[in-house]
Amino acid sequence: MTETLLRFEDILEQVSAYNPDCDEDLLRRAYVYSARAHRGQVRVSGEPYLVHPLEVAHILAEMHLDEVAIATGLLHDLLEDTWVSEDELEAQFGEHITGLVKALTKITTMEQSYAAREAAQAENVRRMLLASIADVRVILVKLADRLHNMRTLGFLPEDRRRRIAAETMEIYAPIAHRLGMGRIKAELEDLALAYQHPEDYGRLIEQLRQREQVAGSMIAEIRTIITRVLEENSINAEVRGRIKHLHSIWTKLRKQGIGLERVYDVVAFRLIVDTVPHCYAALGLIHQLWRPVPGRIKDYIAMPKPNAYQSLHTSVIGPEGQPFEVQIRTRDMDEIAERGIAAHWAYKEGREPSHDAERVSWLRGLVEGQQENPREFLNSLKLNLYPEEVYTFTPKGEVFAFARGATPIDFAYRVHTEVGHHCVGARINGKLVPLRTPLQNGDIIEILTSGSQVPSRDWLEIAVTARAQNKIRAWLNRGEKEQAVEAGRRLLERECRRLGISLKQLREDGRLTQLASDHGFGREEDLVAAIGFGRISLRDILAPFARTKVVAQPVPVGRARAAVPDGSVIMVRGQSDMLTYRAQCCNPLPGDQIVGYITRGRGVAVHAANCPNVRKLLFTSEREVEVEWGGITGAFAVPVHVSFEDRPGMLAALSQAANDEDANIRSCHLATNEERLGTAELVVDVNGREHLEKVLVVLRHIPGVTSVETTVSTPGRRLQLL
Ligand code: MN
Repeated sequence: MTETLLRFEDILEQVSAYNPDCDEDLLRRAYVYSARAHRGQVRVSGEPYLVHPLEVAHILAEMHLDEVAIATGLLHDLLEDTWVSEDELEAQFGEHITGLVKALTKITTMEQSYAAREAAQAENVRRMLLASIADVRVILVKLADRLHNMRTLGFLPEDRRRRIAAETMEIYAPIAHRLGMGRIKAELEDLALAYQHPEDYGRLIEQLRQREQVAGSMIAEIRTIITRVLEENSINAEVRGRIKHLHSIWTKLRKQGIGLERVYDVVAFRLIVDTVPHCYAALGLIHQLWRPVPGRIKDYIAMPKPNAYQSLHTSVIGPEGQPFEVQIRTRDMDEIAERGIAAHWAYKEGREPSHDAERVSWLRGLVEGQQENPREFLNSLKLNLYPEEVYTFTPKGEVFAFARGATPIDFAYRVHTEVGHHCVGARINGKLVPLRTPLQNGDIIEILTSGSQVPSRDWLEIAVTARAQNKIRAWLNRGEKEQAVEAGRRLLERECRRLGISLKQLREDGRLTQLASDHGFGREEDLVAAIGFGRISLRDILAPFARTKVVAQPVPVGRARAAVPDGSVIMVRGQSDMLTYRAQCCNPLPGDQIVGYITRGRGVAVHAANCPNVRKLLFTSEREVEVEWGGITGAFAVPVHVSFEDRPGMLAALSQAANDEDANIRSCHLATNEERLGTAELVVDVNGREHLEKVLVVLRHIPGVTSVETTVSTPGRRLQLL
């Protein structure tokens, strides 16, 4: 115990050195509390558990972090590994530090769920982890915790070593990298390499040991040359030569598929100079000494890396003809390169905690200047700075950011417009939820769709994103218009038929377009929509074209029976040889009450008794004749309009259904639209009213069919089976 107690005093001294006004009492209380709570606990290594929080605090002190971070480091495992409760911790250390410790405990929970996941999920776990962190110190403490655990990993059994090493490579080293913490990233990678690839690691260590002397003398030689040249040119510089970190050598060897033969490949030089102009001057001098390798000069000073790394990089052909790398940067840049975000969060003398705003603006600048991958990462971090956002995942791990309050509807429209339109429900983290459930950070959202679902007006209140609202509104407007155009088209067709006007001809000779523009519509479709909406009277529009010539004279009497075009006959009572035909507007069928109407030159039009054309428009009593159905020998052609959801085999199902009822399909025209809704215009042969109704019912019961209509007999009351 005396040894660890001494270590705490070391940490205190270390902190006081860069932060003379530090809250020593807080650190001491945290230490004592942690020591008491962890008393009796032993690490796998056999050391007292307390060594671990102390080491973590030590790493944080090396980062020059403030006392809150260091106290959090001392207390970080209490909630997880001891009986200390959140309330107790809060009573002792307040809400802030307790919040940080709680966040660290939450990360452990995420780690545990990660253990069960695929490696491919690593990126998502990184983002989720970062998205859940409200204070950057949490991730700094977490990295310190992980670093110490990696340093002492050798004590754990093999399988756990490998798992933790893999997790470190997949989650924590990339996080350290993206936060610009080069030093910790390198150490984590080297430690992980030792456990993930112990044989490669051992071989590499051995090879480097063999080349140590050669490398050492080469480094010394080159350093002497560089130092001399810089001095001659009055550039004050610290020149470091070093062997690259193991993991980067290992990666390089693997990439190139070669062994470690050349020492040049493993050494790199770093020049730390006073000013930016000196960086460029030093680069020029290096290039005068040795020839640069084309394409290897990188100016990260003018164009910093997304993690804010700045430096000049070059590779030159060395004295022995082998390339080696030189990095040139200022002291500040070096600080950022090594410590990254920690450098920005480090305690700086005379800086008030209120300077957090400055740090936030630095990070915000970093975030907003991002591109490509690092942006995605920092997007997660952005959450902490922009608390109005929420980050969610698709089941495949894609990340979508939304404004707070967003719902599964917003998510569905974000995935795809069609997914939005057909959204019927959602699973959040595997549980079915109502569509108005607000999304939470880290939620995994799965949208359930149905082909028959369409947007509803209520959705406008549920969706919060402009994207979803616009799409819903557009659909609602378009949907209404489409329906109006459809209805208008039918009204127009029927009215034209009724009035004996050829719609086709109206279209072809441009009169319809003219009509549209006469009524102030740019396009024919808009006119038709207006008809469908009932904004315009069809009768008024068509009046100029209507054929209203009906003669008063009775037609000559013909034979008593006349063949109708279908081959059936209609008897005109009391008359013989009278030519009859079924009126197109109502298509009466055997079984219907019918009435005859004498037309000029075409014989007797036979209407259904309830056909409004007969009742209201054409009625002139002297031209009405009684008619009755004669011997029926043929079939009657009947137009049937079927609406359905587009699905395979619909045509086959329609013809099968008609066939089952002994109804021949004379013609069929199938069409589907982008909404995957289809229509079929059939002409079906039936032998009468009863037969027709049977056929309609059978068609209606085909799976996917949404409506069946016919205009037969009752134009004023379309037979509609829904
Ligand atoms: Mn720990």
